[in-house]
Amino acid sequence: METVEADLLILGAGGAGLCAALHAADRAPGLAITVAVKGLLGRAGCTRMVQGGYNAVLTPPDSLEAHFLDTLRGGAWINDQELVWTLVNEAPRRVLELEARYGCFFDRTDDGRIHQKPFAGQSHDRTIHKGDLTGIEIMNRLTEQVWARPSIRALEEHRAVELLQDDAGRVGGALLLDMRRGSFVLARSRATLLAMGGGPTMYKVIACSADKAADGIALAYRAGRRSRTWRWSSSTPRAS
Ligand SMILES: Cc1cc2nc3c(=O)[nH]c(=O)nc-3n(C[C@H](O)[C@H](O)[C@H](O)COP(=O)(O)OP(=O)(O)OC[C@H]3O[C@@H](n4cnc5c(N)ncnc54)[C@H](O)[C@@H]3O)c2cc1C
Repeated sequence: METVEADLLILGAGGAGLCAALHAADRAPGLAITVAVKGLLGRAGCTRMVQGGYNAVLTPPDSLEAHFLDTLRGGAWINDQELVWTLVNEAPRRVLELEARYGCFFDRTDDGRIHQKPFAGQSHDRTIHKGDLTGIEIMNRLTEQVWARPSIRALEEHRAVELLQDDAGRVGGALLLDMRRGSFVLARSRATLLAMGGGPTMYKVIACSADKAADGIALAYRAGRRSRTWRWSSSTPRAS
């Protein structure tokens, strides 16, 4: 079986996966980073499908608190509030990073500020956009940045099917399926990051990219269950 070695293995290449790869590459240029994606780099996943735009608080009278409450209300109050706060708190920085560091062009007002439009569930004009092609703009620019960094290797049409774990349950990479050749690839890594999106295909009616089938959630669930059942003995055989 073909084996790939990396310091950091990122599974999934939507906005989350590509931003993680870029952050890691820029923070530690010596790192060998591998991004494995079920589809084509920059083409797969839902980030490319974003039409509305990116919600972020930039100027008063909008506020982080208002964005936080709107998001909780939109999530029917079942959201993880720590995660929501991280989302709203980070959003302004991430938008500026997308523009100033990664080269995205968002629509502007006549006086040169980033244009923010009204959007569903938002109490203020908060949505930053590039016409209605915001996701394409973000993914194209992030993909260009990834291709420009030699420390990031992309494995396209490689589907993660299982996390690799040692006897103590520590994750050390993933088993990938090279879908072009129909063969398995063993990707070993010091750190593994799951950025495979959510699982919208569990619903009857969806508008999402069909490659989002809760794979990451399933992989993590199986790995968690396995690490718990293995804890009692390092000689316990691996569950199939
Ligand atoms: C039609 C539509 C419109 C939307 N509009 C908006 C909007 O206006 N504003 C907004 O904020 N959000 C919007 N969203 C939601 C937004 O797109 C997502 O929340 C966001 O893109 C998630 O980013 P991500 O990187 O986590 O996942 P994705 O961008 O979906 O990336 C997941 C990646 O994981 C890969 N992957 C999956 N399984 C595997 C596997 N087993 N092995 C390897 N790779 C795998 C996929 O190929 C893909 O590259 C919209 C979603 C849709 C579907």
